[in-house]
Amino acid sequence: MARVLVGVKRVIDYAVKVRVKPEKNGVVTQGVKHSMNPFDEIAVEEAVKMKEKKLATEVIAVSVGPTQSQEVIRTALAMGADRGVHVEVSAAEYDLLQPIHVSKILAKLALDEKADLVILGKQAIDDDANQTAQMTAAVLDWPQGTFCNKVEKTDAGLTIAREIDGGLETIKTKLPAVLSADLRLNTPRYATLPNIMKAKKKPLKKVTPKDLGVDTTPRIEVISVEDPPVRQAGAAVADVDALVAKLKAGGHI
Ligand code: AMP
Repeated sequence: MARVLVGVKRVIDYAVKVRVKPEKNGVVTQGVKHSMNPFDEIAVEEAVKMKEKKLATEVIAVSVGPTQSQEVIRTALAMGADRGVHVEVSAAEYDLLQPIHVSKILAKLALDEKADLVILGKQAIDDDANQTAQMTAAVLDWPQGTFCNKVEKTDAGLTIAREIDGGLETIKTKLPAVLSADLRLNTPRYATLPNIMKAKKKPLKKVTPKDLGVDTTPRIEVISVEDPPVRQAGAAVADVDALVAKLKAGGHI
């Protein structure tokens, strides 16, 4: 297997309490801590492990987004990716970018870079779309292994254990293929300081969707974004009779 392409998305850090903009057309991103989408750390780890086991020769980290997206590419490079591709879009364009656009971009890069494998996260924690891996596979007309729990290289291709409701499903596929990483696939390594320094010298190419021939005109329009409903405070009752009376009064029973 020659090249593995990994998608790394810059998202609002998982520990940040996300706030909806007063105009209710999105969430506040300015001045908010961002980091690599957690499932993408797992995708990078899997690709780097493949390289360490000499199953892959090169790992390429791709991020589509504004200038700051280069930060997550550098993190991937510090984790062990060999080079990066930043597909630059303006912040305004990024707000309207959808999984179909990212899929077309990743598919074009996979062909241009002669990748044998594309590994993405199962889901971006900001849009919760869970669409990009599936659509990338469709655009490329490659087989897909989604929600990967375990990936093993065989002579014929890959054997994959997938997380499904209540268990695991094992499939095999030929290469090239597209995978999406689930939570238990591996434990991603931390980027060490010496590796962060080394990563600054690794190559990072910049292109635009237009260079790749991908039209990023939005397909859908977000009508409104709402905060989750605020949970009402609970109340203590003296005994079961009081509880039943309260439930009856509230029309719950
Ligand atoms: P989604 O379909 O939006 O939930 O995203 C699933 C996966 O696709 C993410 O975990 C990333 O690996 C990849 N992906 C989505 N958006 C981007 C992006 N802007 N840049 C790079 N990879 C992305």
